[in-house]
Amino acid sequence: MSGVRGRRTWVAAAALLLAVAGLWVVGQCRQGQQYYLIGNLDKAVATVTTDRGDRQATFFGTIGFRVGTEAKGQLVWHLVRLNLVSEGVSTAKGDSGTIGIALAALVKATYSPRTGQLGAEFQSTLHYELIDRVKGYRQLGVKGEQDLFAPYTEGVAGKITGALPEGLQPGGKGDIYFQGEVSMELSSRVLGALRRIHLVFRVRLKWILRPLDVLKIQPVFIGSGPSDPNATGTAFTELMKHAHEMWGRCGTVRCLGFYVNSPIYVNNNAYRVLNSAAEAAALRGEVDVSDAVEVFVVERMSTSLTCSWGGGACSSSGTASAKIVTSDQQLAVPCPCPCTSYCPCGSCICGPVNPYHLAHELGHALDLAHPPSGSGLADSTVGSIMEPSGFCCDNPDLQSAKNCRNAFNPLLYWGAGVCTGTPDIMD
Ligand SMILES: [Zn+2]
Repeated sequence: MSGVRGRRTWVAAAALLLAVAGLWVVGQCRQGQQYYLIGNLDKAVATVTTDRGDRQATFFGTIGFRVGTEAKGQLVWHLVRLNLVSEGVSTAKGDSGTIGIALAALVKATYSPRTGQLGAEFQSTLHYELIDRVKGYRQLGVKGEQDLFAPYTEGVAGKITGALPEGLQPGGKGDIYFQGEVSMELSSRVLGALRRIHLVFRVRLKWILRPLDVLKIQPVFIGSGPSDPNATGTAFTELMKHAHEMWGRCGTVRCLGFYVNSPIYVNNNAYRVLNSAAEAAALRGEVDVSDAVEVFVVERMSTSLTCSWGGGACSSSGTASAKIVTSDQQLAVPCPCPCTSYCPCGSCICGPVNPYHLAHELGHALDLAHPPSGSGLADSTVGSIMEPSGFCCDNPDLQSAKNCRNAFNPLLYWGAGVCTGTPDIMD
């Protein structure tokens, strides 16, 4: 049953993306108008210098430039996106696990229309799973529920150079090829197992006015497979529907969407009921899909784990290693309601209480903290979906422009689509 539902979601998401795939908007660049030149990287070949010598690796990711026209027709280029993700390499301290790198801030880029040469220097955030395994998570002092495990991250200083066609004009039609290389050096250290990364790539770029950011979701259920009538994940489709709807409200501010993979099944009934954070961590270790945020759905958790997490939690928030663990009880809170100590909405109710729970956890996967301040993660808006609610009631049914703008994860890749929603709160 779960598998059928999961596949339907997948098909619906794929159909949505395919239906709008032809809608790349191209045209002539008017003064003041900004175009994006974007592309998705695949199989970029890299040398990663670790604490035990050089390793070969491949990266995928996304690259994006924003190009505007100043007075006198002068073009101004910015590097606005350089997401790089790899399955990882071995180091002296163990396997790195998924590596994720993303720009710390957009930077100016130089492009010569005469030679086609492009260059930019940047600072990026570097994270790999081994950092979490060795260093654990940061203490954020969040109020009420502890559903957010923020990782330690490192910094790299980098340089991108490469060749584009000569005489490029924003908004032109057709594919553009960019042959480039990226060099990055560790600049702020937590673990220091990766020291330098050098990669070369060739990527196809397109001009677009409004890019769509897509985050891939990998549902993971407990059971023998799609035909297992007792498999977990019964709440997933409904929770995901609300997540699509909530983040679809970003439309006018930011084009953001989710693409849902077919479920993966972990055939081990010991995970049906999670009794501790350690058991949840063991479950997280069972599935790694390097280009997606895994959403593990168990049947239920012990009362103490349910009440401290609010029934679900996100680890490694804002990184390519982000994973969510939650339960089918989000839509079947037992009566009488088990968690009465933290209940910001007043009385504790039971039943199908938390339809926006996954939308909230995906906000954490997208780097957003509980409001108001991010403590190193991105800021979110008071009273919005990112407000914690515990297990006894739902997160607020309100999206904000700030949440939409600040949402980020190195796994975001470029899709194409039409975004029509409007946030409920303007900042
Ligand atoms: Zn939360």
